[in-house]
Amino acid sequence: MTKTIGWNLDNSYQRLPGFFYSRVSPTAVKAPIIIKLNESLAKEIGLNIEELRQNPEIFAGNQLPNGSIPIAQAYAGHQFANFTMLGDGRAVLLGEQITPAKKRVDIQLKGSGKTPYSRGGDGRAALGPMLREYIMSEAMHSLKIPTNRSLAVATTGESVQREVDFPGAVVTRVAASHLRVGTFQYARQWGTKEDLQALADYAIDRHFPDVKEDDNKYLSLLKEVSKRQADLIAKWQLVGFIHGVMNTDNMTISGETIDYGPCAFLNTYDKSTVFSSIDIRGRYAYGNQPDIGGWNLARFAEAILILINEDEQKALPLAKEVIEQYVTLYDQNYLNGMCTKLGIFNQQADDEVLIRRLLDLMEQHKADFTNTFRSLTLDQFDEEVRLFQSKAFTKWYQQWQDRLKEQTESKEQVQQLMREHNPSIIPRNHRVEEAIEAAVSEGNYHVMDQLLSVLSNPYAYTLDQEAYSKVPPDSDENYQTFCGT
Ligand code: AMP
Ligand code: MG
Repeated sequence: MTKTIGWNLDNSYQRLPGFFYSRVSPTAVKAPIIIKLNESLAKEIGLNIEELRQNPEIFAGNQLPNGSIPIAQAYAGHQFANFTMLGDGRAVLLGEQITPAKKRVDIQLKGSGKTPYSRGGDGRAALGPMLREYIMSEAMHSLKIPTNRSLAVATTGESVQREVDFPGAVVTRVAASHLRVGTFQYARQWGTKEDLQALADYAIDRHFPDVKEDDNKYLSLLKEVSKRQADLIAKWQLVGFIHGVMNTDNMTISGETIDYGPCAFLNTYDKSTVFSSIDIRGRYAYGNQPDIGGWNLARFAEAILILINEDEQKALPLAKEVIEQYVTLYDQNYLNGMCTKLGIFNQQADDEVLIRRLLDLMEQHKADFTNTFRSLTLDQFDEEVRLFQSKAFTKWYQQWQDRLKEQTESKEQVQQLMREHNPSIIPRNHRVEEAIEAAVSEGNYHVMDQLLSVLSNPYAYTLDQEAYSKVPPDSDENYQTFCGT
């Protein structure tokens, strides 16, 4: 039966030195039931949906897919700036699926039991947070932001002990790879130079084959990773996504968003917004994300300096230059993105001032980030919104209109560009919570399915999305999100 599912698994990670992983089997659970299957993703990676539905055991780790040799990956990481050894404490890599389009993607179970890296943890996951990962990662994908995705969520028929008992679940993740900045830190800290080089060559092969022949391919690796992060983090900022726990183990080499623990979207535009319960000092606040990206890249650079040049002192200025370029690249991506959000085709020098002014006004009037751009896109301004009632906004609006006249594109073209870059809806915190609550407390998946449906096309501006764009007043006031639960 499992043969016809469509598995086409390879295990290239295991051709790296054994130091990078541990062979480990997922721990079987009592009664696996698939409660969410991502049909379009399954199809995309070459899996048969009907067959998958008949094999829920695979999504809980009770049965291995054909060709799987499961492992847990070793990695380290700076957690809130403190360096420590981590690793897949509750995740198991089943293998790498070679898709019909010949892409290689990791298939990983999360919540599938203890591994040698579990430290004190139980290796398990609760249903709520796994549904959260499913909703948020799919929403990000639909927003056109690079991300790992969720193939399925299965309940285990067992409970996990947290503050109280919750139903247990396993999420199946699909990712370009699970190579992290922390994987390189692990190699640098505890491996030999050969281990580190094997890892870097593997990353280049898998993600950046074009740099293979470069004079200094490890410097090129740093540049490419830095480019991807400058792109990714700008995209986060442009939709108001707060990752929440940008530790170096949660930053991928592929440039995909990973680790949907405490993430949440910004409602009111406020750069200091933090939702994560443990981020007391706001290290990972919305406005800090671009800088943290740079900080993490600097840790990556440190880890591979010795590959860039045997003499690390000689490598240092080269790496520094790349990190400086990251700042420029990020700024440019953000500015380009903001221009598209405002319908500007022909970027000019003082557009930055126009953008800054709008953001300042939004901050001052506590305006909703997504809905401000939504209103500008629709050219409809709710009278209840304080920002739109202010004289300063009327003045800004006029300046913006004047600016739009300095390009040849029609009003329709401007609106089209804005629609493509300003989501009509995002996964609002209260909607996400409502969907999870209905699923976990009542076994009602209808709320979540509806949410997923409207989130699947965030740039559509359909009527059924309207209700999902509303935000209850002060709904963020005490909103908190949590890590690794
Ligand atoms: P995260 O917050 O998801 O980035 O996780 C940080 C580290 O904690 C990683 O090494 C995880 O594998 C590990 N971890 C998180 N939750 C658990 C758990 N319930 N059991 C074992 N390890 C865990
Ligand atoms: Mg993590």
